[in-house]
Amino acid sequence: MDRLLKAMKFAAEKHARQRRKNSEATPYINHPIEVAEHLARVGRIADEDILVAALLHDTVEDTQTTFEEIAESFGARVAGIVRECTDDKSLEKVERKRLQVVNAPRKSPEAKCVKIADKTCNLASILTDPPEGWSLRRRQEYFAWAEQVVHGLLGVNDRLDVFVNEVLVRGRQVLDARD
Ligand code: ZN
Repeated sequence: MDRLLKAMKFAAEKHARQRRKNSEATPYINHPIEVAEHLARVGRIADEDILVAALLHDTVEDTQTTFEEIAESFGARVAGIVRECTDDKSLEKVERKRLQVVNAPRKSPEAKCVKIADKTCNLASILTDPPEGWSLRRRQEYFAWAEQVVHGLLGVNDRLDVFVNEVLVRGRQVLDARD
């Protein structure tokens, strides 16, 4: 429990000045907390390293945090999972998105769980509270891309798989119905 709270505090400080892209500009920290909570409640995951990695999963990609810093404070296993969930921001966005699809099946089971929970939370919020200014077309394209990534992540945790499939089905109903 101490490590979870320490990770929550660490992530809250790192993301302190960031907001989500929804209309209310929700504090960024809500997202990693939601991902970790999804893994614990829906996935029934009790492996603390996975939950800690979920809380930290966007710190290197979106803040000045380094993998060394995470390894020092939370251990090499957590840093390794976060590394697997971090896009290389030196690449073009199109290439990063392509690599997410290609690399998804090669990830460790731990990273697959964090990534599938991340995609699940992002997809669910696109349906209920989408990023400001996202057209229907953009939301449909995000779903189509995320579905490809998710397919490479399935097969580790049945509960997470069932849940994300439900969100994908709901997305098709909601977004395609408006064509
Ligand atoms: Zn995320």
